[in-house]
Amino acid sequence: MAQHVIALDQGTTSTRAIVFDARGAIVASAQREHEQIFPRAGWVEHDPTEIWARTRDVLETALSEAGIAAADVAAVGVTNQRETVVVWDRRTGEPVHNAIVWQDTRTQPAIDRIIAEHGVDAFAAQTGLPVASYFSASKVAWILDHVDGARARAEAGELLFGTPDAWVVWNLTGGPDGGIHVTDVTNASRTLLMDLRTLDWADELLDVWRIPRAMLPEIRSSAEVVGEVREPSVLQGVPIAGILGDQQAATFGQTAFDAGESKNTYGTGNFLLVSTGTEIVRSRAGLITTVAYRIGDEPTHYALEGSIAVTGSLVQWLRDNLGIISESEEIGPLAASVSDNGGAYFVPAFSGLFAPYWRPDARGALLGLTRYVTKAHIARAALESTAFQTRDVIEAVVADAGRALDELRVDGGMTRNEVLMQFQADILGIPVVRPKVVETTALGAAYAAGLAVGLWKDREELRSHWQEDVRFEPQMDATEAARRYRQWKKAVGKSIDWVDE
Ligand code: ADP
Repeated sequence: MAQHVIALDQGTTSTRAIVFDARGAIVASAQREHEQIFPRAGWVEHDPTEIWARTRDVLETALSEAGIAAADVAAVGVTNQRETVVVWDRRTGEPVHNAIVWQDTRTQPAIDRIIAEHGVDAFAAQTGLPVASYFSASKVAWILDHVDGARARAEAGELLFGTPDAWVVWNLTGGPDGGIHVTDVTNASRTLLMDLRTLDWADELLDVWRIPRAMLPEIRSSAEVVGEVREPSVLQGVPIAGILGDQQAATFGQTAFDAGESKNTYGTGNFLLVSTGTEIVRSRAGLITTVAYRIGDEPTHYALEGSIAVTGSLVQWLRDNLGIISESEEIGPLAASVSDNGGAYFVPAFSGLFAPYWRPDARGALLGLTRYVTKAHIARAALESTAFQTRDVIEAVVADAGRALDELRVDGGMTRNEVLMQFQADILGIPVVRPKVVETTALGAAYAAGLAVGLWKDREELRSHWQEDVRFEPQMDATEAARRYRQWKKAVGKSIDWVDE
């Protein structure tokens, strides 16, 4: 049997293809960024056509870099930025609007109306989610309400909706010419439209958001063959056998399969997931309940999640909007040039605050400034904000679980930053553990696909691949860590209730 799996990772800032061998090691990879479109304050869009072009490109490049052919590839696994919405014409394959990205807050007025009528937790029992602009439902509704004729066309079955997994899978499997319109349970659990127990779209939720069922993809498990690749032709005939939202894929890639196991991913935003096994657990502390994975028709696994909107994207903001660094990597050395934050605290509430606060009325705040503060302190405060926000989420996990975490498994682009990783261990007071393969998102998608086609026997076999790289032990005095965290909480208090409609 073919001994490779290709993972396609359609992320927020870029699209990657990674070729893995049968031991889960990286053989080759290719990556292309796509444009971040900011038409107005609070709006974030991507061009789906560009995303599809990048997808083809990275798949072709990674395959040729690996020096293998379609016959050597056992399966393709797909993982993706979650919640982001694409609506397209089923006959032409043309998107009717740019993709509305998960960070986009344009639907807040509609969200406020729904909350006024139903309450913020009205659908939490059914979906595991609070009513928020973050999730897909209000973004789909926005397109139906704002693109001429879209609602009528959607009702007539002419338009399709999908998160980026569905968009690329439809195109990979033939597009207008027989493309398969599917998503998986993890992605569907982020829409505010799926019932966590039935794993089906819920009619009463479709009514609330006025979304026609005809435009929704079929919900499949995370590990099963959904179709075969037709485009790009170099991969023709290879089964697409795994689909997982990026955070669930990273959890799977970290082999955090069972209740109590967790991971924290540091990318554009941060996402901590803690498995609750096959049980649906409700948070009382501001976490959301989500599907972790489902393998074929086996029981579904669930997780509690703490989502933080702005972490790595704050580094990009310092680079692109302030220009105090010219590459993301420069933030580490700049922050390391000072021994502390000089009293500066940075709350990056650019899209409001997500978990555990859920305050759309918060905005970014830089506090504690004096003449002493330099750009190095600001760089440090920016990195520290990621660690403090992570502690906020872990406090919620501990409150829900009733027990402390022993250690934190981490991954994602920002974990290359050792200043941040050390500060994270300091502020949490537990070890922070980074694995050898930090591309856990792609790895998780590869694992799901490889399991479905029998390249790997079971989850135990996958666990045997996991290897530790670095363990960051807490070094800061606990009283000092507590003092800094108190200061952070004060800063958060200043950032909320800012938006004045
Ligand atoms: P995603 O999958 O969300 O697109 P990645 O896991 O690739 O993100 O992480 C990219 C993010 O990490 C970017 O926001 C970037 O600014 C940040 N980043 C990359 N390298 C560093 C670094 N050395 N220090 C801090 N942040 C970094």
